[in-house]
Amino acid sequence: MKKIFVTGGAGYIGSHVVKVLGEAGYEVLSYDNLSTGNRWAALYGDLVVGDLGDRPLLFDTLRRFEPDAVMHFAASIEVAESVANPLKYYRNNTLNALQLLEVVRELSIAHFIFSSTAAVYGIPETIPVAETAPLLPINPYGASKRMSEQLLADLSQAHPDSFRYVALRYFNVAGADAGGRIGQAYRNPTHLITRALKTARGLYPSLQLFGNDYPTDDGTCIRDYIHVDDLADAHLAALRYLLDGGLSDIFNCGYGHGYSVREVIDLAKKISGVDFPVVEVERREGDPPALTARSDKIKELLSWQPRHDNLEFIIRSAWQWEQKVGERLKSGA
Ligand code: UDP
Repeated sequence: MKKIFVTGGAGYIGSHVVKVLGEAGYEVLSYDNLSTGNRWAALYGDLVVGDLGDRPLLFDTLRRFEPDAVMHFAASIEVAESVANPLKYYRNNTLNALQLLEVVRELSIAHFIFSSTAAVYGIPETIPVAETAPLLPINPYGASKRMSEQLLADLSQAHPDSFRYVALRYFNVAGADAGGRIGQAYRNPTHLITRALKTARGLYPSLQLFGNDYPTDDGTCIRDYIHVDDLADAHLAALRYLLDGGLSDIFNCGYGHGYSVREVIDLAKKISGVDFPVVEVERREGDPPALTARSDKIKELLSWQPRHDNLEFIIRSAWQWEQKVGERLKSGA
């Protein structure tokens, strides 16, 4: 049985990947400091509670587990916070990735899957954006991930026979496990769909809509929302590709089309049945107007086929999860 080490395995995306890895028969070990993750979210394998900054613990954990591949999710992910506190992002994202890679090299671990982001593109000249587009991030979050990609590219070029990686550039990940076991469970969520549904549940007085004067049809930003289970499948496909000898590569993870913030809000109101208040405010710093993925490369090379390319399904699964997550968070990690 192949062994996979997952940083951030108790977090939102990591936990959905741990689920598909476990279901596919891999042996999983999660490593998570539980800063935003939850112990109950890691459904398969053991969980080591530890920080990526704790090099001795990281080294010891990896040395004992002897994984065939490392999947690296643990990171900070909020654009606005990265603008306000950039050093946190360069430490948690770039420096921690560097340290993890040093340990991976010391232990001769040959396969690495990296959570990157569409934010590395900044404001692309054409959308849907292809993997070959220039990387011109417009916020420290995107810049911190672009730097990590650079580390990976240089490392694999230096050691092509003993280190290969796949970087997956996520677009807007949303939704929850169709079985209702896991989903987004941050204590202070900032993402649109989660904020909208929590507002529908009465947890916030209103939803702020950031910017209504963008150069888009309805003036609000357009994003490519991808269901988290489809993203988890993309990781499984990337892992199989690497273990089968595939060369280092980078893939977008999105559906190739987008929805405006207004469209998302309207659907969230319809699905929740609550006409929650929306307050239109200034643009949020660091937001590109429109970001959608070209997704032909991952479909062709990794044979990835999305199963939930449907915004209504995505929001419905998130809404079902929202009804239970409050209790889950109360019962603790
Ligand atoms: N957004 C919003 N109100 C919110 C959260 C997000 O209007 O409470 C907008 C945000 O400005 C962006 C889009 O929704 O245009 C998606 O933002 P999100 O934070 O979900 O993801 P990001 O694209 O930043 O990764």
